[in-house]
Amino acid sequence: MSDWACAGISDVPNIIGDHRCSRIGPVRLHQSLAGRAAVTGERLSCEYLSDTLTVLCDGNVTCGLDDPNGTRSFGNIKLSSVDAIWRDLRYAERKQRLAQGRSCDGCSLHHVVHGAMPERASAPRRLIVEATVTCNIRCKNDACFKNNDPSEKTRASNFLPLDAFKSLLDQTASGVEFMWFLNYGEPFLHPQAEEMIAYAKQKNPGMRIASSTNGIPFARPGRAEKLVRSGVDHMTFTIAGIDQPTYVRYHGRGSAAAALDGLRRVCEAKRELDLATPVVQWRYLLFHWNDSAETIAKVKELAAELGVDELRFYLTHIPAGGATRRLAFGSPDHHEIADLADASHGMRPDDDGLFLREDQESLGPYRWSAPTARVRLHVQGRFASLALSRPPQTPDAGVVVTLPWSKFTTRISGDGAWASMRIYVPRRYRRSRLVATLATSAWFPVDDDVPDIRCLGVMVAEREVGGDQTILFGARAMKNPHLRQKAREAQCQLSARMRSLRARLALRRRASETLAALKKKHRA
Ligand code: SF4
Repeated sequence: MSDWACAGISDVPNIIGDHRCSRIGPVRLHQSLAGRAAVTGERLSCEYLSDTLTVLCDGNVTCGLDDPNGTRSFGNIKLSSVDAIWRDLRYAERKQRLAQGRSCDGCSLHHVVHGAMPERASAPRRLIVEATVTCNIRCKNDACFKNNDPSEKTRASNFLPLDAFKSLLDQTASGVEFMWFLNYGEPFLHPQAEEMIAYAKQKNPGMRIASSTNGIPFARPGRAEKLVRSGVDHMTFTIAGIDQPTYVRYHGRGSAAAALDGLRRVCEAKRELDLATPVVQWRYLLFHWNDSAETIAKVKELAAELGVDELRFYLTHIPAGGATRRLAFGSPDHHEIADLADASHGMRPDDDGLFLREDQESLGPYRWSAPTARVRLHVQGRFASLALSRPPQTPDAGVVVTLPWSKFTTRISGDGAWASMRIYVPRRYRRSRLVATLATSAWFPVDDDVPDIRCLGVMVAEREVGGDQTILFGARAMKNPHLRQKAREAQCQLSARMRSLRARLALRRRASETLAALKKKHRA
């Protein structure tokens, strides 16, 4: 299985720390973080460069988990010692590039550094090992097809030899805290996969190891027991369907029955051997074709019956157009899976209903709200400021802003500019931090043109936005004639803007109607 979305990567953080993957990270609605960093001079860093060695199945060493075609190289473990590779100057060059705010091509696992630049470890503390790039099924993502196409040849060889793996572990194991036994490909197509894991555990019993599978290899007798005995700490089974038609719609080929049988056998082996590990996770990828309430109930029932330790409903935007809308974060039905929902970093809102911070050169830093969100307003003097926006091509939204003393509705048009408000704050609420609740009338999951599974409300500026301001007054402030006059002016400005927007919309509608009529006439 060569789908990153299948590879258990985003579940690994449960035991192995945080992980980001550019293909599942936030959104291309706007300019990337890195693009902005180059403009603003912000410095970037990458933890994969600092402490992780990623070894592909041909022995090539790359960085991170996002090099499907093996295009980067810091050396090869079959040709050089780990120490020599770790000291390769190309690491320093890439680190310096990032420090200058220049991002890596095709990978955005880096992050902005505030404060001191992180030091690079003297030796790897984490390993990512790709035992094989081949797979027995064909999940719907580009890398999977490419890696299994003999004419493409993305690796010099498709299976990591056991002796190369052992040599790698001999050189690194004592200092390695975690190993991800996964990358592209189905790791357990490697005939010596369990031996590799067992060897790593023998070299360093304290090392925690996580891996992932599509489950099918474990349908073969004896394989499940071998896995459990290997000492692996965490196993993710990615199975996105409980019946054959649904299963193949994403996985391309293979058998749902065999995948579920593999999962069942591993759970049974663990019980029979009376072992606490591996923690077995079933990751059910959610799409619009496998998300009905009836199916979700059956999956939950089956997971309990099999004795799975963790069931996760995973929201993904790959393949394009496949994302679930019914159960997306922020959707009315999301509560059905809320406690079991999972998604990559940044794709789910935090407890306040806000998604990960993004940046855009023209707007600066902002966060998307879910359909409802709690926003902390900064109060300065008698006013708090709030700036909201929606990008072009998105529908207008009515936003109800609820404050501790009152609420008001404002419309945010999809014009890509900030609608900024200075909100008059009655004296008794003038503490430094004030919380407002936003509720949008129009939310939209975006996944056809833009790979994004989130249900989005409005963009909320992360810093104070000056300029064209709408001023809202509390009841008390309205007693002040000067402020009352300003409120009227603001109201007029807002109405004029709304009128102009409505006129533009009507114009556009008329133009498309005329065009349609012309086309019809032409066809006739
Ligand atoms: S962000 Fe750059 S340094 Fe980090 S894993 Fe990706 S390519 Fe490597």
